[in-house]
Amino acid sequence: MGDRAVAQAMLNDKLLINGAFVVGTGPAEPIFNAATGAVIAHIPEASEDQIMAAVAAASAAFPAWSATTPRARAEMLMELAARIESHGAALAALECLNCGKPHATMVADEIPGVADVFRYFAGAIRCMMAISAGEYLEGCTSYVRRDPIGVVASIVPWNYPLWMASWKLAPALAAGNCVVLKPSEQTPLTALALAGLAADIFPKGVINVITGRGESVGAPLASQPAISMIAVTGDVLTGQRVIESAARTIKRTHLELGGKAPVILFDDCDIAAAIEGLRVFSFYNAGQDCTAACRIYAESGIYERFVAEFSAAVSTIKVGAPYDEGVEMGPIINAKQRARVASFVERAAELPHTEIVCGGRALDREGFFYAPTIVANAAQDDEIVRSEVFGPVVSVTRFEGAEQALSFANDSPYGLSSSVWTRDIGRAMAITKRLQYGVSWVNTHFLSTSEMPHGGMKNSGYGKDLSVYSLEDYSVARHVMIKH
Ligand code: NAD
Repeated sequence: MGDRAVAQAMLNDKLLINGAFVVGTGPAEPIFNAATGAVIAHIPEASEDQIMAAVAAASAAFPAWSATTPRARAEMLMELAARIESHGAALAALECLNCGKPHATMVADEIPGVADVFRYFAGAIRCMMAISAGEYLEGCTSYVRRDPIGVVASIVPWNYPLWMASWKLAPALAAGNCVVLKPSEQTPLTALALAGLAADIFPKGVINVITGRGESVGAPLASQPAISMIAVTGDVLTGQRVIESAARTIKRTHLELGGKAPVILFDDCDIAAAIEGLRVFSFYNAGQDCTAACRIYAESGIYERFVAEFSAAVSTIKVGAPYDEGVEMGPIINAKQRARVASFVERAAELPHTEIVCGGRALDREGFFYAPTIVANAAQDDEIVRSEVFGPVVSVTRFEGAEQALSFANDSPYGLSSSVWTRDIGRAMAITKRLQYGVSWVNTHFLSTSEMPHGGMKNSGYGKDLSVYSLEDYSVARHVMIKH
């Protein structure tokens, strides 16, 4: 069977509620192939009754699930990781069919990344640390417990559908919570396939997967009284709505929102390494990444050379469909998002001082492709420097000296990720200390690992994905004191 047939075979249009696969009884949502523009499926969304049934199933499963040992939960997470790997080709093909991502990067990066997240949390939950038990008051022994929170509503976006689902599911389950997962209405296929792999590993009701739009399924799910925590990766506006809804019943919120990552290139950086790196870090996943290296600041001594060499390098990025020979960058997720990206570039191009040195146009082919684009000579106050485009568009701005670089970099409503490129390690240490971002890289960008926290500051939200900090977010520290 070819890859595409494998993907079709794994295409499941049913929701997972209380261990059973059921057809959504809400309106059907068309699912597109971003590389061709064709409709590949219609996935019926969950009705209000089905949303409530999923939450009820998770609530009913919680007492027994939360009483399982970390080892028992770890074994199930390890089994799921093994199944993800053994079905990796089909999952990769399915994601490519929907999102149009390059198949090679799906296989090399995303599938191993997803499996690793489940394996990491399987191990980490068995090694949790806390303050030592002891007699902090005379005659009383105190100790700290880390207990699960309850039912978590996990709401994920379309840019890495399976990967983001793993970032939400694995720590929540490892910590002993039950989950109702809602993938993006545009990219539900791999989450539904994952439900198929997980259903007979976990007790019924522990994982429920329901599909649908934000307003008709996400918002009602988040507002259910039995939901104890809402974890969202998405837009800032979505985060704000979730906080408002959570305020009514004081639910925990865990928000991974947008980003506009600054990249500071000092005159002394290894410019060839920076160009080689940024060619990937700015345009990976067609720039649809909240950590994409999209806001570049180049010091005046290297500015001209950087712009010339970077635009030459970026113009060689091979854009195409998932299985095209040597393809490096796929399409934008849908027509609306591509139009949004194009409108940012059009407005930037109209400014008297900017120059589009590369790209700046949609590709004349089927699907939602847009050329990798560099807007040079951008000014700090320009929209293209301040707003998240979430597409293959990068601005380059000149700076003079470290203080200006820092003030430009921190002058943003976002606070997710940043990088600084220099050969001076002392300067790198001093700058990273002052960057107001959840992650700062030195002489690289973009890379994440399961052991290290991922999460933002300011409008980029709060709460950590990955690492033991995520397990802390998905559990509650409780103090038990025993009087002797
Ligand atoms: P989005 O906010 O539109 O949707 C994200 C999810 O939230 C979807 O499942 C959607 O259906 C749901 N949703 C929308 N409105 C809701 C509501 N009122 N209540 C509950 N759920 C609701 O975002 P998107 O367009 O899918 O993804 C792109 C955005 O996600 C970008 O802004 C990007 O920066 C952000 N993002 C952030 C991170 C991060 O780690 N910080 C990672 C990836 C994407």
